[in-house]
Amino acid sequence: MGMATLILNSGRCSWGKCIFCGYGKIYKKRTRNGLMAILDDFFANLKGDSVVKIFGSGSFFDEKQIPKEIFEGIVKKCTEGKISEIYVESRPEFITKEKILKLKETDAEINIAIGLESASDIILKTINKGLKIKDFENAANLIHSLNCMVRAYLIVNLPVKNWKRELEKSVKFALNYADSIVLINLLPHENSEIFDLWIKGEWKFLSKEEFFDITSKWKGNPKIEPDVETFKFIPRFRDIKILDGVGEEFLTHPYFEVWQDYLQRWYKKPAGKDVILFLPCSAKKPYSKSETHKKILDILRRLEEGKYVAIHQVMISNPGVIPREFENFYPFNAYNWDEKLENEFIKKRYIEVTKERIKMYLQSQKYKEIFCFLKYTESYGALRLTCEELHLNFKNLLGKGTYEKMKSEGKTSVVCEDALNDLKERIVTI
Ligand code: SF4
Repeated sequence: MGMATLILNSGRCSWGKCIFCGYGKIYKKRTRNGLMAILDDFFANLKGDSVVKIFGSGSFFDEKQIPKEIFEGIVKKCTEGKISEIYVESRPEFITKEKILKLKETDAEINIAIGLESASDIILKTINKGLKIKDFENAANLIHSLNCMVRAYLIVNLPVKNWKRELEKSVKFALNYADSIVLINLLPHENSEIFDLWIKGEWKFLSKEEFFDITSKWKGNPKIEPDVETFKFIPRFRDIKILDGVGEEFLTHPYFEVWQDYLQRWYKKPAGKDVILFLPCSAKKPYSKSETHKKILDILRRLEEGKYVAIHQVMISNPGVIPREFENFYPFNAYNWDEKLENEFIKKRYIEVTKERIKMYLQSQKYKEIFCFLKYTESYGALRLTCEELHLNFKNLLGKGTYEKMKSEGKTSVVCEDALNDLKERIVTI
């Protein structure tokens, strides 16, 4: 039996106010013809006896989101395609007997998922869900009375006190009303209040390990499914401004802090990149457009392919560690730290903060070898202290002698010929 998921861009959720949801606020206009074309395309590729999951942001049964003719089109296509199971999602207020009966004309098993999130009215109010437990109960009873299945979504790690205890209560409650329960790992959507809470340090997402640890008590229960990653999570900010300056504010800026949190607790380096090469930042952003990085990249790209691919380039700068693949993400592409404005105090803080960030990053990833191409200044100092503490070997591809010579000649950038020659000679030994 095959399974296929249809993502319907069905417009804005009629509620759109849940504090953890960014989807509900997104509005992309779709014409009926456009929706019909998506349906035609989707069902043309389906084989019979398939399970079809239809997801959008909001409610499948809301006519403002899924107009009558689209709804009927889906019923017709599911009937013709002999679809065996259908999953849809809806807020309780849109679930009616008439709609369920229409969907039942397909002869498929009907599963209606409701975002219950928590079985506490107080918590539902806190997260601005706009519904009460009773609404869920009534909808669940109606669905069951028509011999359809109820699926409940519950959120793990809500921004409330005693969330673990509340989660247990919610699971117990939902087991009485739902045929299946999905435990959702709450991750911060862009455009959501929960993202702002993360930035303010008032809430944190759970790493995959923490999530599986907390939900492990329900592991053997066939009715309960954990969903660790409901979307491809990468921090995306709505309030964008250039972070320009030198000082504590720009060293431990909340935007940098949440990125480092993401890199330390969620991110996994690309497969096969087993050698880390720490590189300096550059004034021009993204880094790869600067003269410094163009020259470094030119040398790296001349390596034999296998070697080049195995090297993970990671910059060290005041935002922390920045893997190359994120260099064009905000705010890594929109900050400026002028070294000339540094004083002794901030240099010391830079080393302290950066050392911790490198340490947490290296502990969260598994690299076989560590290299850097850095001047013997603060970033290098932070890396050296980290490696000493973690008992890790590392090698600077910029020779100490070369650096001393550069300094005596008043050269401040690693794009000078002597430094690049060191890189060319030493990189081949990696
Ligand atoms: S969680 Fe569901 S009900 Fe709440 S805003 Fe998002 S789409 Fe709407």
